[in-house]
Amino acid sequence: MTETTARATESIEAFAARAEAWLQENVPVRWRDSRGSLSNEESDEFRRDWDRRLWDGGFAGLGLPREFGGAGLGLAEEVTFHVLAAKAQAPDGLARIGKILTAPMLIANGTDEQQEKYLRPILNGDEIWCQGFSEPHAGSDLAGVTTRAVKVDGGYRITGRKIWTSFVQHAHRAILLAQTDADAPRHKNLGMFLLDMRQPGITVSDIRQISGAVHFAEVQFEDVFVPDSDLVGGEVDGWKVAMKVLTDERGGTETATRYVEIRADLDLLLSSCSDRPELAAELNELDIRTELLRWQLSKVVDNEVVPNEKFWRSISVLKVMWSELWQDVTSAGLRALVPADREHWRYQYLESRAASIYSGTNEIQRNIIAERVLGLPR
Ligand SMILES: Cc1cc2nc3c(=O)[nH]c(=O)nc-3n(C[C@H](O)[C@H](O)[C@H](O)COP(=O)(O)OP(=O)(O)OC[C@H]3O[C@@H](n4cnc5c(N)ncnc54)[C@H](O)[C@@H]3O)c2cc1C
Repeated sequence: MTETTARATESIEAFAARAEAWLQENVPVRWRDSRGSLSNEESDEFRRDWDRRLWDGGFAGLGLPREFGGAGLGLAEEVTFHVLAAKAQAPDGLARIGKILTAPMLIANGTDEQQEKYLRPILNGDEIWCQGFSEPHAGSDLAGVTTRAVKVDGGYRITGRKIWTSFVQHAHRAILLAQTDADAPRHKNLGMFLLDMRQPGITVSDIRQISGAVHFAEVQFEDVFVPDSDLVGGEVDGWKVAMKVLTDERGGTETATRYVEIRADLDLLLSSCSDRPELAAELNELDIRTELLRWQLSKVVDNEVVPNEKFWRSISVLKVMWSELWQDVTSAGLRALVPADREHWRYQYLESRAASIYSGTNEIQRNIIAERVLGLPR
């Protein structure tokens, strides 16, 4: 069956019904009932198992072409599935970076050999990936990374330091941005590598977030080998490949996940504060902003059919919208002082502070909107 006919045979309503029935059958009851009270090890095991279940059920890589192991559907189905999964309180898998960032990057820029070797283990949950882009002195200024990739016989030797690397504690592999030519001009001196993270010379030091969670770490690379066959694109194509990855990171799937989380938080707030007239105006405004986010997200889904350069740049608008809305909802939750929900709001408030930093800070998104969407002078 071709990709086109796969989409045409099932309406979005029929897809939603199929997904809902599958979720009802597959979300583990113990996960749903004991949310928040599982040990880290138990929680990771549920998340790992969830990636496998998604694959077995045909719900992994919904938007990826069938020839690459995906379901050959589109963003509309992906967004629908995320919304339904959140409502069903499904676990979030550990294979997130692989699915959202590595797989689309390999389909766009990878060799046949790389696609053959890596796509299936990403989609079936066998291999977890992390994203090694940011460094202690190169975050917003990503082009300034100084981790070196030195050419040797058959490959490269990597030395340097990455920071804020999410999922690295579980990772089998990393997409890694490194300098391949120290003398070349900025943006033309970087390569993108597929690095085996289970080899000597890699030291991972956990970083605890203000919420208490440990989602990321600092990673030191000492003379770590990567073969020529694991370079994506040409030796100095890394910047171009990285731009594709960053656009996917801010795209519709991420926004759908965030929208669902914001909606759930807001619904909790609305239900616990329905008898608080002093909060009515603020909650009403948050409700309208959440609806606007849903509307904007639906435009992304509609535009998937004819995406253009300007449209992808305007993804930055979405990132600013959802991150600031989430922070305002959690601030309102904390201020509402509902004793039963105190711990929830405390955690969400602290977690949401990071949202205006990751995937490119909101200041950088505003620069992009000003310069590349509105065409204002630098
Ligand atoms: C929870 C979390 C998870 C993350 N996961 C990953 C990951 O998996 N992999 C990864 O590679 N990175 C990850 N990051 C890193 C993230 O991408 C960076 O933190 C981010 O790009 C900002 O870089 P920085 O921290 O170096 O801040 P800096 O770039 O030093 O910025 C400091 C401040 O200056 C502002 N600023 C900088 N330049 C400008 C400018 N030109 N105009 C206006 N303001 C400016 C910034 O907005 C910010 O407020 C994660 C971060 C967080 C918080």
